[in-house]
Amino acid sequence: MAVLENVLSALYWLSTILGALLLILLFLSTIIVIAITVLLAYSFKTGNILFPNHLILGIMFFEGPIKAVMRFFHVDDTAIDRISVDLQNRAMWATFSKVPFEQRAIFIPQCLRSVECPARLSPEGIKCKECGRCGIANAKKAAEKLGYMFFVVPGSSFIIRMVRKYHPKAIIGVGCLIEVKDGLDLMHKSKIPAIGVVLERSGCVNTILDWDRFFEVMEAYEDGDA
Ligand code: SF4
Repeated sequence: MAVLENVLSALYWLSTILGALLLILLFLSTIIVIAITVLLAYSFKTGNILFPNHLILGIMFFEGPIKAVMRFFHVDDTAIDRISVDLQNRAMWATFSKVPFEQRAIFIPQCLRSVECPARLSPEGIKCKECGRCGIANAKKAAEKLGYMFFVVPGSSFIIRMVRKYHPKAIIGVGCLIEVKDGLDLMHKSKIPAIGVVLERSGCVNTILDWDRFFEVMEAYEDGDA
């Protein structure tokens, strides 16, 4: 009987401690979500982004609750994703632009190809034949001239495979908003500076890219220690 009482007493204290910890965690999470939401609202209003690195981590860990709170203020999920991409690009820019071109890789989505593309799939992605039917030919020539590794991506797992194989020190990723955001989150966790360029029009075929923006990112280089 005494043993049972001891066990019940221990369980009682354990559940009390766990309950208290849970409440503290909930309280801290609420404070963090409120702080991030206020910073995001400030960024929306002024275009001036404060504490970008903290915001990136905050959005990554509390994405669901932050989106729920922002929805209450009529800010849709896409706007949060755009801010997240913008923040990561700004935060990574200085580090990215110091990496020599020949240590960088570019990943272009296959949906940018012409519907009459004669390129074939290979283990290294879709091998552009530089036929000139789409903008990829020009981008590939210019990128490879600078020393970039250039890949036309057939599927999402391909990027991880090429990163593991070639260990690029910096990455440019092109894609739709969600692909770019997920890719940047992944690279952020892997500590690889990455810049995302979001398609102007996404979809399965006939997508549109702001090539000027792409070339601007691709040609960015700042001499200094990476
Ligand atoms: S330029 Fe390259 S990717 Fe574009 S259609 Fe021609 S072969 Fe395909």
